[in-house]
Amino acid sequence: MKKIVILSLAFSVILTGRLFPETLRESIENLTKAEMQSVVEFLADDLVEGRAPGTRGGNISELYMKTLFKFMNLEPGINGKYLQPFRLRGFTAKELTLTANGVTCDYLEDIMGSYVRSEEEFEFEADVVFAGFGIIAPIWKWDDYNGVDVRDKIVIVRVNDPGLYRPDKFENKTLTYYGRWTYHIEEAARRGAAGILLIHTDRTAGYDWKVVRNSWSGEEVYLDSDLNNLLKFRCWIKEASLEKVLKARNIDLKELYRQSLKKRFKPIDLGFKIKVKGKNSFRQVLNHNVVAEIPGKSTKRIVLSAHIDHFGVKGSSHEDNIFNGAIDNGTAVASLVTAAKILKKHQEDLYYTITLLACNAEEAGLLGSKYFVRNTNRDNIIANINFESTPVWEKAGSIMGIGARFSTIEDMLIVLAKRERIGYTDFSMAGQGFFYRSDQFPFAQHNIPSVWISAGEDDASGQNKYLNYWKEKYHTVEDEYDPEWPLESMKQTIKFAVLLVDLMNTTKEEPVWKGNLTFPLEK
Ligand SMILES: [Zn+2]
Repeated sequence: MKKIVILSLAFSVILTGRLFPETLRESIENLTKAEMQSVVEFLADDLVEGRAPGTRGGNISELYMKTLFKFMNLEPGINGKYLQPFRLRGFTAKELTLTANGVTCDYLEDIMGSYVRSEEEFEFEADVVFAGFGIIAPIWKWDDYNGVDVRDKIVIVRVNDPGLYRPDKFENKTLTYYGRWTYHIEEAARRGAAGILLIHTDRTAGYDWKVVRNSWSGEEVYLDSDLNNLLKFRCWIKEASLEKVLKARNIDLKELYRQSLKKRFKPIDLGFKIKVKGKNSFRQVLNHNVVAEIPGKSTKRIVLSAHIDHFGVKGSSHEDNIFNGAIDNGTAVASLVTAAKILKKHQEDLYYTITLLACNAEEAGLLGSKYFVRNTNRDNIIANINFESTPVWEKAGSIMGIGARFSTIEDMLIVLAKRERIGYTDFSMAGQGFFYRSDQFPFAQHNIPSVWISAGEDDASGQNKYLNYWKEKYHTVEDEYDPEWPLESMKQTIKFAVLLVDLMNTTKEEPVWKGNLTFPLEK
């Protein structure tokens, strides 16, 4: 917790320090639409096949990034190389059924899951325990496992956190990291469970079954190091399907829910077994982050990041089955590249070194950024500025920093917003845990203040096009490139990322944590 301090007085320095220099401003204003379009136009093309890790399209996007960085005269960022290899293990469910109490749950319709052992056919049976939210959060004195041994069992857990129902616990309706499905899985693995069933409802997950279905069909990939535990089965189940299973034994799910909100809740043995059966294919996937550097005067560095991967090609070829990921994350990668171009042009002004991280396998669980952070010299990283699903519409009336509130990055953004006569807002969906859902998060988990930077939702058209994107196109084949995008809010996003770097440069101010961190730090 070395970085937690009382809000410093250094912002008076910021206000009196160098103003945004005209030459830098010029470089940003002179960014052409064609420059901003080109990267996303390429990455979102059908020929790049949705950029899934370890596929031809994925490899092409790695090569493309490496070539771009080299063309821009950026230094290689990993021991003299641009590519940072890391091994993933991929599993594709071919068949999957779950049977209990005479009720069968089918793949796609009722369940979406992944069996993470290298076995072509699998079948296992285990006792079932309802473990509430499956959360151990010392800062709120919350422990759903309460010392109960769930080793070799299948735990059923609710997603989200108790704050959704009990305003005195957690962060009220704001989802904390403890409410994320990734955390529930990590905790079940730490408890030695053999399997986990995550109960899906639109309200608790924050998205409908279609999103789960798209995200979990096809290959599920994992970092090797995250599979060194007993948890061999990870699965989502529709609430209604689970209710059928429980009803056969007169167990009322709503009653279990009530129990889970009680003080001193203990995991409940449900008194039956679940049988999991299926067929799997598996492989090892060699993957790369693409990393470049713009050396500044100091070896201390700011990491700018954006993930290059998306979901690839899935489903029937009779209809559009390419997940182009134009906004997720083509426009963000385009922002990273154009920001790098501007910073390179002004390299002589750079105090901090800039590391550009085009990371991979984000959609599979932030794996590339996790691998990068775990395997780099973290002591000299002062901040991470991440681009994710960068908006592409008319000028916004505000700038937002998702997760900025945890650190003095928020104060910096507020200073910048004032200076640029623009508002500072929080994302209306931030309560759904967006900070934990992209590549800025592994940095934060490793004690490095980070932010997902983006133009706000209040675009000049008066329609909330960004929110519509999240509701309608996010993680679907509809996330496609459109040459008609005005890209004004993308330019604003790039501008504020560059301004933030410039501000840190000018003041030599290193961001520090403020307030309570509502996520556990990794050791
Ligand atoms: Zn993304």
